[in-house]
Amino acid sequence: MFSTLVGNERVKEVLRRMLEARRVAGALLFAGEEGVGKRRFALEFAKSLNCRTPVGREACGHCSACVRAEEFVFPPSDDKDAHKKIIWSAHADIGMAISYKRAILVDAMRDLEREANFRPFEGSARVFLIEEADKLNEASSNALLKTLEEPPSTSHIILITARPAALLPTVRSRCQTVRFSPLAPSEIEAHLLKTKKFSKEDARLLARVAHGSVGRALGTDLEEYREQRNAMLDVLSALVLRGDRASLLRASEDITDAKRKDEYEPRLDVLETLIRDVWSLALGCTPERVVNADVLEQLEKLAARVESQRAARWIREIERHRERLDVNINRKVATDALFLAMTE
Ligand SMILES: [Zn+2]
Repeated sequence: MFSTLVGNERVKEVLRRMLEARRVAGALLFAGEEGVGKRRFALEFAKSLNCRTPVGREACGHCSACVRAEEFVFPPSDDKDAHKKIIWSAHADIGMAISYKRAILVDAMRDLEREANFRPFEGSARVFLIEEADKLNEASSNALLKTLEEPPSTSHIILITARPAALLPTVRSRCQTVRFSPLAPSEIEAHLLKTKKFSKEDARLLARVAHGSVGRALGTDLEEYREQRNAMLDVLSALVLRGDRASLLRASEDITDAKRKDEYEPRLDVLETLIRDVWSLALGCTPERVVNADVLEQLEKLAARVESQRAARWIREIERHRERLDVNINRKVATDALFLAMTE
């Protein structure tokens, strides 16, 4: 049932109305940022079309059709032949096309065309999900176009993408677009608490560092986040105590260490989040607005010593620094320069 899905209430309404009117477009485009649940919504919708004991028009979630629709066995990522076909769930009418390396193979779209022409085998509709539809290249897009032009009334194709602009206009124009919004931190927090896997404090923090994505919230390693945050809190303290240049240069050396190359950008993100927290506290905002509420006391102490204009300038310095990094300059030199500029 749609009530089991997180957020995007407006999308739920749109999908419910389609089911109630029994007017489901042949091709739907689910567009929205990574991690907001587009695939979950698509599967729930596919189940609703095939459920044996629907509640209203929505999937019951426990009949045999609903259970099997969730069972996918994905092939190894280097098995090219397996990616030339639709990957079926344990339900004979619900399948998925996924990309091989960087493209959805033209053969997979030809297989889809063939399969979409069959009547449903066991349910009342055949539903094909196309994951990362932005990976359709010209050849596979053209193969798909044929199916999109005249889909049989019992077949539905759901294209899923975070980058709808990357699709060929001819593909996009044949789909009914359903737009997903990023989730509110409160929606993610409530969901995390429902899973019973997180403490209140952790759920609150994860929901706020996830930038609107349940996927990202679940994929964040909090222990690692807190470790990075401790390092960045040291940087922030050194900045606040103007002039502690020696420890800033040490910190610069530490975060640009080649052994931890992949941690550089996440740490910069963490530093920026901390500064924004201190900034909003310095402006007198309530702690509700703070991302890192679990270290509120430390942040408040820092905020008491920082004027808001100074925090605002730090953010601008970091933004400028990111632009400089884009043009491939030496990270260590640039980070030294950033930290020293921030002490002024
Ligand atoms: Zn069911």
